[in-house]
Amino acid sequence: MVDFSLTEEQENWKERARDFTTREIMPRKDLDTHGHFPRDLYQKAFDEGLVTAAIPKEYGGGGRSYFELILAAEELGYGDLGVATSTLLMKLSTASLLNFGTEDQKKRWLSPLTEKLSFASHAWTEPEGSSNLVGRPATTTARPVDGGFLINGIKSTISNANVASFFTVFARMNPGTEGLSCFIVSSTSPGVEVSNPYLKMGQRAADTGQIIFRDVFVPEKDMIGKPGQGIQIGMRAIRASRVGVAAMAVGVSKRARDLTKVYGHTHFASDGKPIIYQQDYRFQIAEMEAEIEMVRALTWRACWEVESGHEGMKLSSSAKWAGGEMAVRTTNRASEMLGASGYLASGLAEKLIRDAKVLQIYEGTGAIQKMLIADTACRLGSGLKP
Ligand SMILES: Cc1cc2nc3c(=O)[nH]c(=O)nc-3n(C[C@H](O)[C@H](O)[C@H](O)COP(=O)(O)OP(=O)(O)OC[C@H]3O[C@@H](n4cnc5c(N)ncnc54)[C@H](O)[C@@H]3O)c2cc1C
Repeated sequence: MVDFSLTEEQENWKERARDFTTREIMPRKDLDTHGHFPRDLYQKAFDEGLVTAAIPKEYGGGGRSYFELILAAEELGYGDLGVATSTLLMKLSTASLLNFGTEDQKKRWLSPLTEKLSFASHAWTEPEGSSNLVGRPATTTARPVDGGFLINGIKSTISNANVASFFTVFARMNPGTEGLSCFIVSSTSPGVEVSNPYLKMGQRAADTGQIIFRDVFVPEKDMIGKPGQGIQIGMRAIRASRVGVAAMAVGVSKRARDLTKVYGHTHFASDGKPIIYQQDYRFQIAEMEAEIEMVRALTWRACWEVESGHEGMKLSSSAKWAGGEMAVRTTNRASEMLGASGYLASGLAEKLIRDAKVLQIYEGTGAIQKMLIADTACRLGSGLKP
């Protein structure tokens, strides 16, 4: 029998993340503000061990398992998706280093992240598009020079770019699909220009920025993996991170569901009873509940696949796709179930809708997830004959 119960350690960790969410995130009124990065809140998340949870203990981090990060993602996602994104992005932004970096690189780049509040970014996307970066010429290039490389180009919509101390940058050295390589670039290197030119629909507590590289010198020792290995490095990092997006989707869907429960118990139908006793209202909550359970089960299974070294792409993309769809559906549904207050800025539902939308977009759109799922789902396999 599969055992879904949490260990005492996992329960305690989940409780810690929930307590942080209730105490520090939910009372905040400033999280939905353009261009405002609530550094004091991230400092508290750092002190709580949430920001560095993904970094192994030998480099000073929390050494939390991926499953524990998934548990935290659900809790933080309940409080604010922007805070969840910026806090837990460390998993994505350090994955390339952890999976393919040398011991020297890990010590030099990871340890400082655990000494004081600082961030790292995963810089893949470019203004010309990111979904097809593998197949088309990347505009960010790395030209070999004496002792290293010169990076030129632009990376766009990069989470935590304005607050990162380094970026993991994917750049093309050679033409063709084998050409992407991966580099660590310090945000203070000469030629790096970071800005925040975006007004986002939601997740405003998360930083999102643009990085311009103009002849930025990167020493040979800061290339991650081998030349041309960038695709493999990037895909492995994102495969794991997508499961975290699914967990955040579970969190925000639970928040939307809870809003409808409170409303249903405190507002009355024409028969004088609370709306919660009307069958249509109850059935909508029942559907939300069932969907939340389905996506959480899929998320945990995908996490297990990724963490235990299985291929995992099909399940991680399935969880990411299903989570994004659910979050958008559930938050929209909640808005209608709350009546006028679900549409007003003074209510929370409209913010949840705006925050949730990007779960369908970042780390690959629905179309991209379906392409990856189809890669294995459409194989005939051994039991079927053409
Ligand atoms: C708030 C936010 C934070 C982000 N953080 C990061 C980050 O930290 N690091 C990072 O690297 N990126 C980040 N991104 C970028 C994000 O991952 C991309 O926006 C997303 O993957 C979509 O890629 P794109 O914007 O380049 O669109 P495109 O690749 O241009 O795609 C546009 C549309 O075309 C469709 N499409 C493209 N190719 C195909 C195809 N072959 N078949 C069918 N349909 C296709 C897509 O589904 C999409 O609907 C972030 C984005 C946002 C909004």
